[in-house]
Amino acid sequence: MTILKPVDSYRHQGLRKLLVQNIRQKGIIDQQVLSALETVPRHFFFDSSFLEYAYEDKPFPIGAGQTISQPFTVAFQSELLQIRKNDKVLEIGTGSGYQACILAELGAKVFTIERQKTLFDRTSKFLPVVGYPTIKTFFGDGYKGLPAYAPFDKMIVTAAAPYIPEALLDQLKPGGILVIPVGAFDVQTMTTMTKNSDNTFNKKEYGAFRFVPMLEDKAKEI
Ligand code: SAH
Repeated sequence: MTILKPVDSYRHQGLRKLLVQNIRQKGIIDQQVLSALETVPRHFFFDSSFLEYAYEDKPFPIGAGQTISQPFTVAFQSELLQIRKNDKVLEIGTGSGYQACILAELGAKVFTIERQKTLFDRTSKFLPVVGYPTIKTFFGDGYKGLPAYAPFDKMIVTAAAPYIPEALLDQLKPGGILVIPVGAFDVQTMTTMTKNSDNTFNKKEYGAFRFVPMLEDKAKEI
């Protein structure tokens, strides 16, 4: 089956501008992040019957019990990553692929892992169709990172991690940044771990967010 590229109308572009203004008012100042959000059509990642929700600053179900993160959260995590052109970035939790596209717009070389087979299949086929053929998608367990492609300049976890996986810290370059929402229950604390040249870490915390859980069993064939 061929997947068709959805249409990005003037109306969608207008709604996107308003969304970006809203996010700027909520405190995102990185101009590159704001323009990436203005560039990537978030409605491409929604089922066509829900298009009107795509430009609200809210998370939304994407099937398989998962959600596309709230645009503010995507912007917040992206800002914390301080992406420089050609940074090698690992994302845990591909989901719809929206966050991966934002990272690609910021100039990152994106590697992204998803443990749900249905989402992995759907998103891997979809990303080249909407203009992001260079994003590398992997089916697997994000707790293990991606040793074959390590080390990474930056890492972003887009699911709630009950703790910070050691494998991710190991696979970060000196000077690298891991952005991860930590907490096992309803609310997580957005956390950054920056690796020093002597392999120690600086930890910073940035307030409360809500994510679907990062699941630890093996990747699921559903
Ligand atoms: N970044 C996504 C939002 C993802 S929601 C987007 O932009 O749409 C979190 C995703 O993490 C879900 O798709 C979930 O299946 C996935 N996930 C949960 N535990 C995981 C794990 N251990 N490894 C990889 N992906 C995981």
